[in-house]
Amino acid sequence: MEQISFLPTFARWQVAARRALQSEISPEQIAWEEIGQDAPALSLFEEAESPNESQPAPKFPVPKRFLALAKLVALHREASRWPLLYRLLWRLTHGETHLLEIVVDPDVAQATDFEKSVRHDIHKMRAFVRFREVEHAGEKWFVAWFEPAHHIVEQNAPFFADRFASMRWSILTPDRCAHWDGNNLSFTAGVPRSEAPGADRMEELWRTYYANIFNPARVKVRAMQAEMPKKYWRNLPEATLIPSLLHDAPRRVETMMKKSAAKKIAPDDAWHPASVPETASLTTLRETARGCTACPLYKNATQTVFGEGPKHATLMFLGEQPGDQEDLSGKPFIGPAGKLLDRALEEAGIDRDTVYVTNTVKHFKWEPRGKRRIHQKPSSRDIAACRPWFEAELRLVRPKVLVCLGATAAQAIFGSSFRVTSERGQILESEFAPRVVATVHPSSLLRQPDEETRDREYALFLADLRVALRAAEEG
Ligand code: SF4
Repeated sequence: MEQISFLPTFARWQVAARRALQSEISPEQIAWEEIGQDAPALSLFEEAESPNESQPAPKFPVPKRFLALAKLVALHREASRWPLLYRLLWRLTHGETHLLEIVVDPDVAQATDFEKSVRHDIHKMRAFVRFREVEHAGEKWFVAWFEPAHHIVEQNAPFFADRFASMRWSILTPDRCAHWDGNNLSFTAGVPRSEAPGADRMEELWRTYYANIFNPARVKVRAMQAEMPKKYWRNLPEATLIPSLLHDAPRRVETMMKKSAAKKIAPDDAWHPASVPETASLTTLRETARGCTACPLYKNATQTVFGEGPKHATLMFLGEQPGDQEDLSGKPFIGPAGKLLDRALEEAGIDRDTVYVTNTVKHFKWEPRGKRRIHQKPSSRDIAACRPWFEAELRLVRPKVLVCLGATAAQAIFGSSFRVTSERGQILESEFAPRVVATVHPSSLLRQPDEETRDREYALFLADLRVALRAAEEG
């Protein structure tokens, strides 16, 4: 039995695994041992060196999907993830090149479960980190406490640096702490909860904000608790508000419905093209769009839902408009259609974290039906008013491939005579991106009348995504 001791990061595991593979050491012959920063490396492969130093480890061709999967699985807390990843790597490089397509294979299923759990944790951290204001060296600093289920702090920190770029902040966790000084991200060792600051006036601000965005018409207590498990409540200032908001919900629904019924049709001059700042910063665009009133849609919506994703993503997805859940959370494609998109992206081998996702119209357009808010198609005036925002996103992200999800997005790019049904899945040219692929909106798959049609449409959708991926890979 060979013992491999290594610092438990994906990069360190990758170096060790490549060398083990080169020496043809089978998975059963290896005991993987995680070591801390200060522990001596006693292993077959010395771990004191950084992955970029010394002789480079040999490379073995593996599917891109494996890399994306392995990077997330490596963040899982279970020590069994390392032998699991090596088994997958071994099998992929020993004749089972299509292994990852066999979803019922126990190793593939286990890795997929780990990946899902890590993604879930990343999402929870983004949703439940709450900063508190403290004085640090005479300056304002914002500090949050979070207890992640997995080792996700370093992977998630760039998201917070982007989202809270203008603040100086620290996120403290028992594993690692992330710090942003306005320019640079840095990391230090984990700390106990006692290091986290207590309540302050930020909590009051957050509670006011939460009470404002709380939508009484959408109250589903069970779903709410599933989405916001009680273990996170002690970090959440708004948790103390929930009982009184629930109690008050019926009265607020009634008032909301009355107000909505009393709304008048807006005059024509209520629409004008959104005024977009000259900037190279997506964060500035996003912040400015929060206050956009270029068309009447902002009046009935909770907030602007701007695009999300890396600034230089090679793939950009353009949908129609945010839905009910996106409107409440402020994030694009997180509702049922977003979940279906996630699944299809995963199956197509596209990592959602690497793509930029946005909508043609940034506010949710809806009409009340009973207690529900029903989606309404944006008008050509809504789309024209909002167009400067997605054009600015396209100018900054400069994707290699733009994927139009549905007719609204495709017609915003190619004009009103464009038909998704006849042009879908083809690589098209446009002034907005070197390559454009149009396909259906994932919400249309959810509306299919029966399972057989749904499966067929889903397969076509997947095929369109694969065309887009190939176009992006070809450069
Ligand atoms: S939908 Fe677009 S143009 Fe209209 S208010 Fe919202 S961001 Fe502005």
